[in-house]
Amino acid sequence: MLKAYKYRMYPDENQIEMFHKHFGACRYIYNWALENKIKSYEQEGKSISRFELNGKIRMLKMEFEWLKEVNSQSLQGATLNLDNAFTKFFREKKGFPKFKSKKNPVQSFSVPQHYEVDFDGNKVKLPKIGWIKTKLHRRFEGNLKTATISKTPSGKYFISILVDDEKDLPAKQKFNENNTVGIDVGIKDFAITSNGEKIDNPKHLNNSIKRLKVLQKRLSRKQKGSKNREKARQEIAKLYEKIANQRNDFQHKLTSRFISENQAIALETLNISGMLKNHCLAQSISDVSWSSFVTKLEYKAEWYGKTILRIGQFEPSTKICNICGYHNKKITLADRKWQCPDCGETHDRDVNAAINIKKFALNKQNLIGI
Ligand SMILES: [Zn+2]
Repeated sequence: MLKAYKYRMYPDENQIEMFHKHFGACRYIYNWALENKIKSYEQEGKSISRFELNGKIRMLKMEFEWLKEVNSQSLQGATLNLDNAFTKFFREKKGFPKFKSKKNPVQSFSVPQHYEVDFDGNKVKLPKIGWIKTKLHRRFEGNLKTATISKTPSGKYFISILVDDEKDLPAKQKFNENNTVGIDVGIKDFAITSNGEKIDNPKHLNNSIKRLKVLQKRLSRKQKGSKNREKARQEIAKLYEKIANQRNDFQHKLTSRFISENQAIALETLNISGMLKNHCLAQSISDVSWSSFVTKLEYKAEWYGKTILRIGQFEPSTKICNICGYHNKKITLADRKWQCPDCGETHDRDVNAAINIKKFALNKQNLIGI
């Protein structure tokens, strides 16, 4: 099983300089490799492999002295990243790999191997850079795979270490109507369960999102190119990071609880790429939030032998009475509560939807009839 562990790094001035050399060189190699791939395809109609490219890096080094200062495996890591970007493009049929810019908010480079982790000394040793002070707040056991060093927009450094614990995934546990929960995305709440539980974002996270709106407005009033505008931008970058951290904490707690309390979790598949086009800031944050929530549920389900059941978006979960199955076409977004004209039951819109999501999902498994 592969797991990633992320830690804050505290490089000294010389190490920061070396980090920046690695960011720059890996970005250069990535862009150079992408250009080569495009040219070779356009001119000769064939694709150039990563191994050919890695061979050519040796020649590039003779031309550019500064590439020699950088860990050569990190340079090869850049061509691997490009390969992965192409695989994703061919498999998912979207997002042709882009050239990387110096202005990307997050800069990174990878270290495929030959690095060391010292938990007692709170430090990590990277090739060509040496021991770097790192807050190793969590221990792990297993084989070290690729590490990725990154710099956030507000100037913090992190290392993310991929670890293979060599354990097999547990077998899937049996589930039924009693130990399955349906979860729906809310408009007002973060999530609603088929048990009637409504979960809002924690207060501190909502406060940060409100503050972000204020800062965005302030930024828009600052003159372009001015020092004050740069300052405002920095402040926003910091707040974005804070929001991401608060959201992660909240989601980790929530997903762990759902996974431990249930054997299966039913979800509606949402059209996230469509949702992201939404112009409303708070809404777009909550959309991103939902997709990272689902990702966490999915990998934790794998770790603990639980099942994620998915139903398509076409199923009208909000409009069907979960008691008698009546399809109430008159319901609009404004109706928070409604009474079923057929059986007379009163429904909370979101809870009813969550119950239906659970029912549809189990029905597809032939575990329940509607
Ligand atoms: Zn009904």
